[in-house]
Amino acid sequence: MTDSSARSWVAWAVQQIQADTQRSADTHLIKLNVPELAGIDLYLKDESTHPTGSLKHRLARSLFLYALCNGHIKEGTTVIEASSGSTAVSEAYFARMLGLPFIAVMPRKTAQSKIAQVEFYGGRCHFVDCPTQMHAESIALAKHTHGYFMDQFRFAERATDWRGNNNIAESIFRQMQNEPHAIPSAIVMSAGTGGTSATLGRYIRYKGFATQLHVVDPDNSVFFDAWRSKDRSLTLACGSKIEGIGRPQVEASFMPEVIDQMHKVPDAASIAALRWLEQQTGIRAGASTGTNLWGMLTLAIKMRAARQQGSLVTLICDGGQRYMDTYHNPAWVAEQFPQLGDYQARLNSMLLK
Ligand SMILES: *Cc1c(COP(=O)(O)O)cnc(C)c1O
Repeated sequence: MTDSSARSWVAWAVQQIQADTQRSADTHLIKLNVPELAGIDLYLKDESTHPTGSLKHRLARSLFLYALCNGHIKEGTTVIEASSGSTAVSEAYFARMLGLPFIAVMPRKTAQSKIAQVEFYGGRCHFVDCPTQMHAESIALAKHTHGYFMDQFRFAERATDWRGNNNIAESIFRQMQNEPHAIPSAIVMSAGTGGTSATLGRYIRYKGFATQLHVVDPDNSVFFDAWRSKDRSLTLACGSKIEGIGRPQVEASFMPEVIDQMHKVPDAASIAALRWLEQQTGIRAGASTGTNLWGMLTLAIKMRAARQQGSLVTLICDGGQRYMDTYHNPAWVAEQFPQLGDYQARLNSMLLK
């Protein structure tokens, strides 16, 4: 039996989230100006402008609505997530909005700045020694606190309304309406949970668009091989260096069936594309945006070689201010990605053809 006050709290909570959405503007679709690629229009959907600074704002909103409407989160429920990244920050924001305790389970070696962001939104961080313990520890903590484990890597694909409701796919196609090539030849995206690529791929099929979904995968990630071999049991020992994307195991929310093409992008190429973006536009982004952009630029160069015209869209997943000590610190980059210069030279020469 659910009593009426419990139900009215859930109604209030859903209303809070909807009101937050109503107060927010849509994220910009930025058009790049690349004279070398005349006839191929390139666009970036800028997800860094959400209140919590990344595309995980959409995911956190969807996961909260999913959990509320499925009866998993009630007044006072402790919300738990396994995340050392953007998901923990965005979920902490929504938990505070609803007055719920929030615990992010993260590796002990997580950067202090990340811990500070979760704590800024009133969340608590719970540490494990090794990243592989995060999932089991989250389940244990949920049991112990009678709380709820959000489990982004399981539920990301189903929490979002793939048919529309202003999801990222619907927003992109609406913002493209007045462009010369309104239906993109391809949308390029990387995968972390795989939730965004699942939403894009499903929406494209639902609407019957000819747009191809290309998913780019960094070094130290199993998604590419799993897509090619259809083997979901693949694992790796070592994690990705590109924050937010690439996984050592095939997560449940990764939907390879809706992906038309996958490409491997070397980490140094991701950073080269990130630098290129900053030089071209002044925009500083996170490294996964570099992976996306390398994928989009190489695709555009192939289209040019085939004398095709059209449009391509990818995402700015988060902004660079979170990474001033890492991806935007030249000394750190030189140590981590010694081949950066080679990929910068390669990008410039490919663009010039
Ligand atoms: C989560 C994330 C992605 C990937 O998005 P998914 O929908 O989880 O696949 C890309 N970049 C950043 C910075 C992220 O946090």
